[in-house]
Amino acid sequence: MIVEQIWTANAYRNFNYLIACPETGEALAIDPLDHKKCLAKAKDRGWTITQVLNTHEHGDHTGGNKAMIAATGAKLLAHKNARDRIPGMDVGLGAGDVVKVGASVELESLDTPGHTMSHVCLLSRTDQPALFCGDTLFNAGAGNCHNGGHPNELYHTFAEQLAKLPDGTLIYPGHDYIANNLRVTLDREPDNARAPGLLAEVEHQDPGAALVSTLALEKEINTFFRLHSPSVIARLREAFPDLPDDPDPKTVFLKLRELRNSW
Ligand SMILES: [Zn+2]
Ligand SMILES: [Zn+2]
Repeated sequence: MIVEQIWTANAYRNFNYLIACPETGEALAIDPLDHKKCLAKAKDRGWTITQVLNTHEHGDHTGGNKAMIAATGAKLLAHKNARDRIPGMDVGLGAGDVVKVGASVELESLDTPGHTMSHVCLLSRTDQPALFCGDTLFNAGAGNCHNGGHPNELYHTFAEQLAKLPDGTLIYPGHDYIANNLRVTLDREPDNARAPGLLAEVEHQDPGAALVSTLALEKEINTFFRLHSPSVIARLREAFPDLPDDPDPKTVFLKLRELRNSW
């Protein structure tokens, strides 16, 4: 499996992805908003885009579909419940479905509601797994729930699916928000051991050659995976004085998500 992370340099800071089979040169494009950059990269690498996958229905993820499919004839894949919101879907995905790319690449579809209720993540079946997580999980952050999502479901997606993936899983999110999110981490957990050094490292990075994190790193820097941290809980109590001494992780997650809405 070959992965190209494509930095769109747009105002929303989207990342697009190409995933290619090294044996056949067939490629799948994830959320190819910047269809021109995606097509140029595929041409450059000698790849043929045969599939387009939308992680979810928001326009900054589906906006390149039409031009991309007109140029390539690619099939369009997305969550099976997104058919009403994504025109021209060919394949509806459910949990556990496998997307094949060429002869050698297999990607498992995870049903990951929360940011929207019809959001899929893709998990590669490779020695070191890679997770293409759209707007569900960001570097040092979590997706919002303002446009068709629900924080409860986002919590369950984090706790029951994402947190259980192997620590070495590579994280490929739909946007470059790492620097701002690390500032949020430091606001929520001022004594976080890893965030200051990492912020200095990525603050001025070229998003065209962005750091790719792992789940292990996210567990160190992403507050939404640090629901048992005493300093996260103590700091949260300043905003929510009624928070119990030993709050359950779901309560902590929902309060963090609430505060993040007004950061
Ligand atoms: Zn979105
Ligand atoms: Zn987005």
